Amino acid sequence: MVARIIDGKEISKRIRGEISEEVEAIVKSGKPRPGLAVVLVGENPASQVYVRMKKKACEEVGIKSFGYELPETTSQEELEALVNELNNNPEINGILVQLPLPKGLDEERVLKTISVEKDVDGFHPLNIGRLAQKGRDPLFVSATPAGVLHLLKENLDTLEGKNAVVLGRSNIVGMPVALLLVKENATVTICHSRTKDLPDIIRKADVLVAAVGRTEMVKGDWVKQGAVVIDVGTNRVDDPTKKRGYRLAGDVDFEEVKMVASAITPVPGGVGPMTITMLLKNSLIAAKMANR
Ligand code: NDP
Repeated sequence: MVARIIDGKEISKRIRGEISEEVEAIVKSGKPRPGLAVVLVGENPASQVYVRMKKKACEEVGIKSFGYELPETTSQEELEALVNELNNNPEINGILVQLPLPKGLDEERVLKTISVEKDVDGFHPLNIGRLAQKGRDPLFVSATPAGVLHLLKENLDTLEGKNAVVLGRSNIVGMPVALLLVKENATVTICHSRTKDLPDIIRKADVLVAAVGRTEMVKGDWVKQGAVVIDVGTNRVDDPTKKRGYRLAGDVDFEEVKMVASAITPVPGGVGPMTITMLLKNSLIAAKMANR
């Protein structure tokens, strides 16, 4: 059996179409156009690319984007003052501070300054805390984990009772994905760099989410027949045949695992496109909350 390929681009396109329609309906009803503030501190080239992509995606669905580019030398106080100003600006429904911040800035303090109602990245400690609590829900779930869950729900009747293995426990991917899966009543095992007998644990998974940042680490014989595999990994591999000198590869050995799994995301074209889409969705949710 060859796995079904989960096309994140296609799913993403469909959701963006729906978001765009909802945005226009809001504007038509006389309410303000949803607005997202994107704050970039310093000149990290990867962050500059992400910020550009996010602004472009906003424009495509009709969300107004407000860009704030601050120098590397910005102080904690200056950055927090800007966040507070954005918290009080009614034109802005969502605030995203691009991570990582330059050395010397306290990321946790900045994230805590963002108003919970505008925390479209879902990194405010209150939103994370609610994600970890039974019977409570965060106002926003961060974009990549939300994208992973969406792809899983589109490809499984239910997650309830499934054995799910999450490979990786980072604050931005692994841990929130695991918490979301628990909320869906899956039985979740979280693996990390100190986990012993990793292949044996992964072999028990009906659902595998890989977010380790290790190129093609998960091999075909680690995966259970019929498992659904979501590959978050986005790793650069030197490739002189490509114009830019590299190609992107996941944490899963796609060629091997697709022969065993029932469904699998490719890299690129799987989780990646879903991440920005979920940020747009969160911005729309924030605008709707503000309009209530
Ligand atoms: P981090 O480096 O923050 O976390 C990696 C996790 O993997 C850690 O929990 C670490 O364990 C674990 N790990 C590392 N090596 C091993 C190993 N050999 N065996 C088992 N576990 C291991 O990465 P991120 O979570 O930020 O990102 C993971 C991947 O996802 C990256 O490739 C990144 O580029 C990609 N990514 C993709 C996004 C998208 O939109 N598509 C968005 C965000 C990330 P420990 O905790 O013990 O150190």
